Amino acid sequence: MAELKYDKTGRLLFTKEMKKEYTLLIPQMLPDHFAMLVSIFRGEGYQVEMLDNTGRPVIDAGQKYVHNDACYPAILVIGQLINAIQSGKYDPHKVALVITQTGGGCRASNYIHLLRKALEKAGLSFVPVISVNLSGLESNPGFKLSLNLLRKAVFAIIYGDLIMNAAHQVRPYEVTPGAADAAVSACMDFLLKDMDAGKGMTFKSMRANFDRIIEAFKAVPVTGEQKVLVGVVGEIYVKYAPLGNNNLCDFLLAEGAEPVVPGLIDFILFKINNREVDVGIYGGKWVKEVFCRWLQKYVMKYQHAMIDALKNSGRFRAPGDFHDLHSYISGYLGDGNKMGEGWLLTAEMLELINTGVPNIVCTQPFGCLPNHIVGKGMIRKIKDDYPWSNVVAIDYDPGATRINQENRIKLMLANARALAKEQRARTLDPEEGPSGEPVSAR
Ligand code: SF4
Repeated sequence: MAELKYDKTGRLLFTKEMKKEYTLLIPQMLPDHFAMLVSIFRGEGYQVEMLDNTGRPVIDAGQKYVHNDACYPAILVIGQLINAIQSGKYDPHKVALVITQTGGGCRASNYIHLLRKALEKAGLSFVPVISVNLSGLESNPGFKLSLNLLRKAVFAIIYGDLIMNAAHQVRPYEVTPGAADAAVSACMDFLLKDMDAGKGMTFKSMRANFDRIIEAFKAVPVTGEQKVLVGVVGEIYVKYAPLGNNNLCDFLLAEGAEPVVPGLIDFILFKINNREVDVGIYGGKWVKEVFCRWLQKYVMKYQHAMIDALKNSGRFRAPGDFHDLHSYISGYLGDGNKMGEGWLLTAEMLELINTGVPNIVCTQPFGCLPNHIVGKGMIRKIKDDYPWSNVVAIDYDPGATRINQENRIKLMLANARALAKEQRARTLDPEEGPSGEPVSAR
């Protein structure tokens, strides 16, 4: 059995011996994206499992071991990890926990310390915690983020974004219930098989896989109706994790709407861009600025390929690229506004409104100051500029009742349907916004 080793500060390390014996537990956020990341880590010799425990026991574990003034994603992520260890499914002496550290000024850089404190309280301080970060914050002898692994992670994120995007555009209209989910599974199957065989990781093969994904979703028979489009934005965890947002996308589907969820790759590009911008605003090494600019360009090459696949499909709407998204914040927020989701959250709302999705759910976790500013805090200004926008901010926390959240979303949907009816009656001039104002006047 691997011996427990500590660094000079007393931090328990994940050692090379542990890599052979331990299973890494990863909290869940985006099921398809993370399934591919798990496969990539397995290919690098790690034993990894993505957690799927959910519901009240997870929230209870989070509340028991994390201070109740921590932001809600911290409570859920730590609750899911601790609940998994206590479930009896794993040998607590043979697991290590994986958690990200963003390296920014927000609490996401410090969840790891809250997790270690929680483990101590739960009598599990012998469980190693591995930080996944790109800022050199913590390292472990048994865990390395190699360039090759990061390159593959970008592939997984792009594949995941394309699948998520196409599935959301098909699922509300499928003739046979479950057909879109079957297309997701089929795509995941061939991608995971490719990844296990070390394939699908070149630009050329990725483009071929994009075509396969598009064809899989185009093959799903759909009805011809048009449902109300509803954008989903917010803090990254509650925006994506069904556990964090009480299965928001399923609820929107059940209410007869089509969820429009921006991809994860823009968040990654936002984080890279922040590091480049930091040098200009606060100073720093030019090498860092040049590297981040190069990295952004590299990742955007893949983003453009994904956008082209959607555009060329002749069937699906395609999002704009990161530069398009960034351009929307002019006159709203500066680049230095980057705590939490920073300007990205506002930009996503503006992009949705400008691309025909004025109905938006802005998901807000309890205890998240930065995203209340760039989310809820911007709604007034957006409403002034786009009077027809229909944005509802929904708070998520352990005490918020689901029924209350859902009633507020239902009210937003009622407004959305009234707006759509008004638009149809008006037979808009293409140069006019839904309110009748000329676009050029805004
Ligand atoms: S952005 Fe909000 S939810 Fe995320 S770490 Fe910061 S305070 Fe917590």
